Amino acid sequence: MQSLQDDVRLDDKSRSGLESNSLIIDFVVADRVSAALISDITQFNASWRVRAMNKERMRQITRELLEVIGENPKREGLKDTPRRVADMYAELTEGYLMNPKEILAREWSEVTGMVVAKDIGFFSLCEHHLLPFHGKVHIGYIPSRAVVGLSKLVRLVDCFSKRLQLQERMTKQIADALNETLHPYGVVVVVQARHLCMEMRGVKSGANIVTSEIRGQFKKFETRNEFFEMLRKDV
Ligand SMILES: [Zn+2]
Repeated sequence: MQSLQDDVRLDDKSRSGLESNSLIIDFVVADRVSAALISDITQFNASWRVRAMNKERMRQITRELLEVIGENPKREGLKDTPRRVADMYAELTEGYLMNPKEILAREWSEVTGMVVAKDIGFFSLCEHHLLPFHGKVHIGYIPSRAVVGLSKLVRLVDCFSKRLQLQERMTKQIADALNETLHPYGVVVVVQARHLCMEMRGVKSGANIVTSEIRGQFKKFETRNEFFEMLRKDV
């Protein structure tokens, strides 16, 4: 994990390339406690980092992108595009600033049977093309000592989808975060998604890609089957 020192150096490096008055740090998160907690999640792929996205630099890159495409970044319709793109990327990647342990921290100590949350919508960006992939996440878990509210599961999905992602990795990260934070008897996560990089280009396939991860008791056929039965029901 990056230390505070490294982060400061990183900031200084990006700062030195610009006039000081043009630097806008949009994300400054100084919660070192959160940063320490995240290291506990062993299979958490992307290391938690304090990120300062420099929007002025993002605007400049977007202006250059427009030029390389063969456009005139100064024409009326494109005048505000660099600013919009910078704001958009900040929003679409804000998952890097969320901490799954914090999201799942406020739990209720209530033991019930299987908990199923289906059709949690998400939008993410594929890391190979920076194009969206989007769809639904279905989560099931069997609490051993605690349950969390639906809004926490929605935020957990946000945390891992608002990044540059691969569908398989996102599925695994959601399952691992639930498994390692709530310590349930079992977890299942199913993600169905359509990838614009496949639909707009290349094979032009509109197929739904389905990925799943199972932990604990969901490895048993009957338990898994009960989950899929609940997904099929219109409740
Ligand atoms: Zn892609």
